[in-house]
Amino acid sequence: MAQQIQSIRGMHDILPDETGQWHWLEKHARDILERYGYREIRMPIVEKTELFKRSIGEVTDIVEKEMYTFEDRNGDSLSLRPEGTASCVRAGIQHGLFFNQQQRLWYQGPMFRHERPQKGRYRQFQQIGVETFGFSGPQIEAELIALSARLWRSLGISDVTLELNSLGTPESRQAYRTVLVEYYQAHRDQLDDDSLRRLDSNPLRILDSKNPQVQAINEHAPLLKDHLDEASRDHFATLCRLLEVAGIDYELNTRLVRGLDYYSHTVFEWTTKALGAQGTVCAGGRYDGLVPQLGGKPTPAAGFAMGVERLLELMRVQAGRVGDYAPDAYLVLAGEQVQEAGFVLAERLRRDLPSFRLQVNVQGGSFKAQMKRADKSGAAVALILGEDELAANEITVKPLRDRDMAQQRVSYETACSLLEAGRLKNELEN
Ligand code: ATP
Ligand code: MG
Repeated sequence: MAQQIQSIRGMHDILPDETGQWHWLEKHARDILERYGYREIRMPIVEKTELFKRSIGEVTDIVEKEMYTFEDRNGDSLSLRPEGTASCVRAGIQHGLFFNQQQRLWYQGPMFRHERPQKGRYRQFQQIGVETFGFSGPQIEAELIALSARLWRSLGISDVTLELNSLGTPESRQAYRTVLVEYYQAHRDQLDDDSLRRLDSNPLRILDSKNPQVQAINEHAPLLKDHLDEASRDHFATLCRLLEVAGIDYELNTRLVRGLDYYSHTVFEWTTKALGAQGTVCAGGRYDGLVPQLGGKPTPAAGFAMGVERLLELMRVQAGRVGDYAPDAYLVLAGEQVQEAGFVLAERLRRDLPSFRLQVNVQGGSFKAQMKRADKSGAAVALILGEDELAANEITVKPLRDRDMAQQRVSYETACSLLEAGRLKNELEN
């Protein structure tokens, strides 16, 4: 036998047992985004490497260590996208979506990062991203947060915390940077190589370090919040107030700086303790500097991205099983004589009950075997067409889940109304 080929480490198949849950999450996300007036944008998965270097920043984990970068046949350096914001901004500039306009956009798709694979951390993973352009006030940040909070509720997720911080205006960030560099210079001997390099390029990143020794230094580092100017403080206070009046709880986390170059003012993360180390399910903030950094006119911008695999895992932990493919009914065809009539019946039912999910038994089997399949399909009822039914122009409707309901042999019309009633009942229960 030829040797089998396995998928790439950290890149997973999503099997049919799981895709129902994916659809369920995607449907809820899409519904909520549309209710808030967001429109979908779809970008390519491959971009020029330069795009990510210029937006995410050269001295970041993503660009330094995590990108899938390669030369194409023309010798151009291309990369699989590690995130969506850069592409979204590139597309907006390229197609004139920003100038004198306001945009509420979202996208969804795979992202690629060469990280160490573990639970909740993959090399190909899926994000749903939401980006807004042309809104400078904290109101849009409040809207983004309210929208995400509503999504958690509709997904049945409860155990998440909103962590919030302000990085302030670029000016107050600059002032803070000076103070921070002084502090780290005084503790140079305890910094690792990564941090020493960042001391010159972007010292705020050191606050993000995962190295325990550096984290110990960070414990006593000066705090950004003590260096915010008045405009930054006002902006942040308005956001906090809006969240309070909307009843959205948050925790201030002065160490939250986010790993990327392009943030200013508000940054936030939704985190959970239910997923172990990979506890951030959604992260974002304001990034007014990014559009000009990529060659566009100054445009205020704010957005966030959620990690779909982590949300699904959280749903599994908290909300139980949702969104499988169980049909509403399974059609059992008892006997050689009814096969053709059964096919016609199934097509007729699909025409008359457009939202009804019907699975038909194919390739025969004994009555008992077919009933077993019906049960395994998860359907609420079995429809049985045997020779007796065919002769009488009737169908047997046999409930598979509701033991109190009796089996009955009825006309086609009665069967339709029974099925519609049964379906309605299921919907109300969900
Ligand atoms: P982390 O600190 O967990 O590495 P990050 O700050 O690198 O996250 P972002 O770039 O902000 O993550 O991406 C937004 C969200 O995408 C994260 O909050 C997370 O839910 C998800 N995510 C990021 N990287 C991965 C990955 N390698 N595998 C699965 N999900 C991921
Ligand atoms: Mg990361």
